[in-house]
Amino acid sequence: MSAFRYENGSLMAEDVSLADIASRFGTPCYVYSRAMLEKAYQAYRDALTAVNRSDALVCYAVKANSNLAILNVFARLGAGFDIVSGGELARVLAAGGDAGKVVFSGVGKKPDEMRAALEAGIFCFNIESASELEHLNRVAGELGKKAPVSFRVNPNVDPKTHPYISTGLKTSKFGIAFDQALPLYRKAASLPHIAIKGIDCHIGSQLLDPAPAGEAAAKLMGLVEALEAEGIKLHHIDVGGGMGIRYRDESVLPTADYLAPLLKALEGRHEQLLFEPGRSLVGNAGLLLTKVEILKHGEERNFAVVDAAMNDLARPALYDAWHDIAPVTPRADDGASYEIVGPICESGDFLGHGRHLTLAEGDLLAIHSAGAYGMAMSSNYNTRPRAAEVMVDGSQVHLVRRRETVAELYALEAPLP
Ligand SMILES: *Cc1c(COP(=O)(O)O)cnc(C)c1O
Repeated sequence: MSAFRYENGSLMAEDVSLADIASRFGTPCYVYSRAMLEKAYQAYRDALTAVNRSDALVCYAVKANSNLAILNVFARLGAGFDIVSGGELARVLAAGGDAGKVVFSGVGKKPDEMRAALEAGIFCFNIESASELEHLNRVAGELGKKAPVSFRVNPNVDPKTHPYISTGLKTSKFGIAFDQALPLYRKAASLPHIAIKGIDCHIGSQLLDPAPAGEAAAKLMGLVEALEAEGIKLHHIDVGGGMGIRYRDESVLPTADYLAPLLKALEGRHEQLLFEPGRSLVGNAGLLLTKVEILKHGEERNFAVVDAAMNDLARPALYDAWHDIAPVTPRADDGASYEIVGPICESGDFLGHGRHLTLAEGDLLAIHSAGAYGMAMSSNYNTRPRAAEVMVDGSQVHLVRRRETVAELYALEAPLP
């Protein structure tokens, strides 16, 4: 059951009313439920324990939502982390995460990011090109270290998701072509400052059909066996993230069922398994609370101008993504169809089209499923201070990021002397 539910005609986050949160912290405001975060993580643990894979490492993909409080909740549960920058490594360490459980993904790691990760003692670098391998060997050599690596291999499986979030196809900038993997492993085995640890793939995001992940795992197994035949033994198999969530009416499998074909493909292998889930751990654990500022009844359409915008939640503008938008305190009378838009000077600044709602100015709306790729993708476009973020834990509310001030937005700038 969701932690976001109506009680006495008002939407709650766990035991706290969203109306109270709005009056205490203002709007727009991201609201996260600790219980929902923990439940989503536990679903992975339970699925893995059920198939005797309790040694598996679930590495939360930090880019989905990198607030320190979110990272801290997962760190306390023993999670690992999948990072894509030196900045994300710094966040993980600041949040109490264990460097020894960090995997470092991404196509363009810079030498100083490699250095920081080597010094912190991360678990593994997920290497995405031959050139990156050479760079890492050099940087590790300078530090007198051996860098643990896996190669991100492109299984060339169609994940059947939005093209912007498909990452495992041949045309993708990510990963290493399947046929180039073996020669690269041989090369890595010959480098003095590289330690081969594993293999890795990540085929895309918001995946609902479990078959592509299973297919990808099966393809990886072929490579693992070919490597073994050459005497290259792996310690782990990292199957990436990508499990989808329900935004609207998508049929979403329980975590254990989604993982079943993948785990089946890896049955009998002794290597440690790694997972890199992002969206499925945080997406439905967060919502964006916003206030209706202006109702505008045009000739063709009704507009509800709210105080959240595409700078706060980019997914509708970016991917034409659909988010449920619900009143915090529903009204009884007949409503109308509204375009839910922000105040930004772009026609693409919408949060929802044609939503049937009964609204008055000053009403609060909850934009659901905003925990993943929401705040993390926010910007200051139109010199808009970013939203506050709070985390609810039972009847407690913690401010986990205060609202920015306008002065902070130009504090790093200077007029000409
Ligand atoms: C984005 C990303 C993830 C997380 O993807 P989700 O769809 O949010 O689960 C995992 N691994 C890598 C390499 C990524 O780039």
